[in-house]
Amino acid sequence: MKKIKKIALRLTLVFFVLYALITHFLPSILDKKFNPVIQKPPYIVSQEAQQLTDTLDFIADLHCDALLWKRDLLKNNKFGEVDIPRMIQSNVTLQAFTIVSKVPKNINFDKNTADTDALTLPFILEGRPIKSWFNLTQRALVQCKALKEFSEKSDGSFYVITSKSDLQNFINKRKTNKYIAAGYLGIEGMHALSGDLRNVDVLYDAGVRMMAPVHFFDNKLGGSAHGVSHGGLTDFGKQIIKKMQSKNMIVDVAHSSEKMLDDILAITTKPILSSHTGVKGMYNNVRNLSDKHLIGIANTGGIVGIAFFDKAIGKADAQHIAQAIQYTVNLIGAEHVALGSDFDGSITAPFDVTGMSLIVDELLKLNFTPAQISLVMGGNVKRFLFENLP
Ligand SMILES: [Zn+2]
Repeated sequence: MKKIKKIALRLTLVFFVLYALITHFLPSILDKKFNPVIQKPPYIVSQEAQQLTDTLDFIADLHCDALLWKRDLLKNNKFGEVDIPRMIQSNVTLQAFTIVSKVPKNINFDKNTADTDALTLPFILEGRPIKSWFNLTQRALVQCKALKEFSEKSDGSFYVITSKSDLQNFINKRKTNKYIAAGYLGIEGMHALSGDLRNVDVLYDAGVRMMAPVHFFDNKLGGSAHGVSHGGLTDFGKQIIKKMQSKNMIVDVAHSSEKMLDDILAITTKPILSSHTGVKGMYNNVRNLSDKHLIGIANTGGIVGIAFFDKAIGKADAQHIAQAIQYTVNLIGAEHVALGSDFDGSITAPFDVTGMSLIVDELLKLNFTPAQISLVMGGNVKRFLFENLP
């Protein structure tokens, strides 16, 4: 009996040592595998583009999934696509940190079901809190907490924005110290509500200010562009949108089916946005926005974030990003266009966050004026947040 006890003890010890090793090494292995960058820094651009980038007062990006990877965002990492030191180094003022809570196995662009969840195993093996292993709301909440903790440990260099007054205070601080940055929390896919309307309040209280109804599969709110039903908003979805807007939470239509987009445009009482998208007029696929929907979003007073990955814009480079921006500006005006990189969203990024000057360079080549560039690079996001945050 003693012998069996001894063996059991040893096995338990071996298990915990192994688990500790896996939780230590796995996050960066996955991070490096899924978030590669085509062109590494430093980025050389024309003197005019560099000067303009360095003097823009607000560069903003509407979408990144950096919180998914358990990366220390206070460190200047040699991998991944965005972190706070790299934002500050390249004059990037504000980043939306959008939370992913469930990803289907064998994810694809055309047809995914909700039956599988590729995030359960990594969450277990990365040593995330046990409550987040099987509960999607908890999975979102641990990511909210992580961003808050980065801010607390940042020695005043990083701020989480949850209101107009937060934004104003941050902007005031940045007038005397350019070496600070900010972020705000969003969610991709409201399956993170676990089907419960009351979780809108829970996520709001955790700091979330922007949510997209769907991600890669249909959920209780309605149809994804990559789902099976391609349906519109359900009654539950309508209730959620109404509740969100009553709390001044921003509705993000990225990944919505066309029918869902029609339905949201029909009932919205506030400006809406698409945090990361391409445009069908330039590159036609299921997730990119049609001219009709681009105009619809602009008519709400909304903005459209142009994504940086190949399936959104045809080819992942600054030239194609600029061309998609130009197409969209020509259709709905420079006041309605923004950046929505999708950094760290399991994409192959053309450059990391320190490469935003490459976009400025390409926009100058397309004869954009400095005033237009200032709007697209972040001025519109600043205005939108001042108009729509609580
Ligand atoms: Zn996405």
